[in-house]
Parts: sequence; C-alpha cells; structure tokens
Amino acid sequence: MALLNYLTTTHFDFGAIARLPKEMARLGLTRPLIATDKGIVQAGLLGRITDTIENGDALPVFDGTPSNPTETAVLEAHALYIEEGCDGIIALGGGSSMDLGKAVALLAGSGGPLDRFDPAQKGTKNMTKVAPVIAVPTTAGTGSEVSVGIIIIMQDGRKATFAGPKLIPQSAICDPELTLGLPPHLTAATGMDAITHCIEAFLSPVVNPPADGVALDGLWRAWRALKPAVENGGDRDARWNMMMASTEGALAFIKGLGAVHSMSHAAGRLPDLNLHHGTLNAVLLPPVLRFNAPGQEERYARLRQVMGLAPGADIAAAVEAYNKAIGMPKNLAQMGLTRDRLDELVPFAVSDLATRTNPRPAGAEDFAALYESMF
Ligand SMILES: [Zn+2]
Repeated sequence: MALLNYLTTTHFDFGAIARLPKEMARLGLTRPLIATDKGIVQAGLLGRITDTIENGDALPVFDGTPSNPTETAVLEAHALYIEEGCDGIIALGGGSSMDLGKAVALLAGSGGPLDRFDPAQKGTKNMTKVAPVIAVPTTAGTGSEVSVGIIIIMQDGRKATFAGPKLIPQSAICDPELTLGLPPHLTAATGMDAITHCIEAFLSPVVNPPADGVALDGLWRAWRALKPAVENGGDRDARWNMMMASTEGALAFIKGLGAVHSMSHAAGRLPDLNLHHGTLNAVLLPPVLRFNAPGQEERYARLRQVMGLAPGADIAAAVEAYNKAIGMPKNLAQMGLTRDRLDELVPFAVSDLATRTNPRPAGAEDFAALYESMF
C-alpha cells in the first residue's frame, strides 16, 4: 500500500529566513533551543538567524554538534533544553545539526533513552510526542528539514537510523542565501548526497509514484546545478536549485534508500576516520549502480532521460565523470580507508535500514565485494 505523507510547512526562497518569527508564533515557540555547530557560529549564520528574532541574542544555543552527531551530544543538548526551560527547537545547520535538533525534540517530547526508539526493536511506536521543530538548513544535501529520519552514533558505537512520521519537522525555512558561503568541497559532497537520495529513492521498490516524480525532478535539478554551484558559490540560480533538489531528495526517500547509504552509514561510523557522508555516497554510488542494474532496465532508462544521457549510456560511468569534475575522490582508499577495516564494516551494512529497500537483495558477500571494488 502506498503511504503518502508530506507534512512539513516549507517556506522556500531567498530571504525566507525573515519568516522565522512568524513560524515561531505559529508553533507557539517563545523559548526555543537553537541547535547548531561551531562552524555555523563562526560563519556568522547564527547571528543572521537571531537578528530576525526579537531578543534573539538571549536564546539558549547548543553549538556542540559534532560533524557526525552522537548520542552523547544529543544528551548534552537535551540537558541544556531542560535547564533553560525550552519549548521547542530551531535546528540550524547541515544534516548533523538538524538531526541532533530533531533527536533532542524527540527526547523532550517522549522521554529517553534514545535506544527505546530503535526501529530494529520496533521502537518507532514509542515516539508518542516530539517537541516542535523549525529546521533551517545551511547546506543543500541532507534534506533533514523535511525527512522522517535522523542518524545518530550511539554510545555503543552503532550508527543508528531512527525514522517515523513524528520526526518530520513541522516547519522548514529553506533560504538558499544561507548556502552562498558554503565552500566548494562541501557544496560538492553535500550535493552528491542529494543526488544519491534522489537516485536511491527512485530505485527503491516501495510503491509511491508521487515520490518517484519528486525524486526525478530533484535529480534533474541537481544534475544540472551542482557543478555550477561548486564552480561559483555565488551562482544564486544554482544554489536555489540545489536546495530544492536537497529538499526533494528527502521528500522522496520516504520510500527508503539503498545500498549506497547502507555502506556509507557503515563506513561513516568509524570514529577515527570521521568520513563525510556525502563524499562516501559520491564514491559508492557508481559501484552500487552497477550492482543494482540487472532487472532495472526501465528505471535506469528513466534516470538516463532525466540526467540527459544517451539511451543505453553507462550511468555509473557518468557519475564517475561527474565526481571527477567536482573534485570528489575516486575511491575509498583515497579517503583514507584501508582494506583491513572492511570486515568491521560489512555487518553494519547488512543490518542497515537502507538495505531493506535496495532494489536488489544484498548480503554480506555482496557488500564485501562492493567495498573491495573500491580499492
Ligand atoms: Zn544521505
């Protein structure tokens, strides 16, 4: 059965951030916790957000979000939320800050520990209430501002995905202006995350034709806009389209993702390497596209159409060429991963939520071979 569930009220355009006070009033927020990270503060983006709010400077701020959000950081932010008597969250930043903010809102509404919500333990039903969240993305890739999911590195070392309709923020303010200063390598990496979301959501076997349409539109935009956005960060049209593609990718992945994300989540949890999610996806997308190809002729033909490739063209090779053009690494070895680590990745890829919606069943041997092919 198809489940169509688009719930976030999204204000989208240059200057949309001016809507923030109205959105706070609409959701009844008087003392939100701003969940963000130090990079956002240093880039001056926090100030631009608090400037729009009366007495915005007096709002409590948690700026300790790590580049991959951890349970420990979520607990710290939640403690601050309680201490400051907050009534909701403004989640400001890339995927990490938004996921951390959504996790704090979940703890604030439903009580902890986080483990209780693990979908692998049928924990989604424990998400009874979530504090109001206004998500303000400052990158174009994750789409967490409209997504049902969050990804947190747990204290036991797992990179856990939590998902449920209650985790969809009630409000998103997507202002491409906030992405103009994003440096080229982060623009490229986050943008490839958006492209991967669109492709994997479209290929997921879950039946949801409207989500397929959204995925293809997102891919169409990102495939054309990402390179210009990387080459000229001030290209407003490219930035607008990348932010839209990012939002669309996340709207589409209500269908689930696939093996690229399974493998990227597994590799992204290694604390010593701290590999970037989007860069991992960029690198892993071509081999997974080759692995998934059998039986997908019709779907691949539609991808080619949207990407402007000739009929029968090799999509994986086209992604490899695109990666090269925007400065993404060629393989996992170039990212600093060594072969001896692969054994510890495979079981996490197998058990990842995204594996369930990969169009071709993938087991331990498949993942081992796919990782191996990246050296
Ligand atoms: Zn992703």
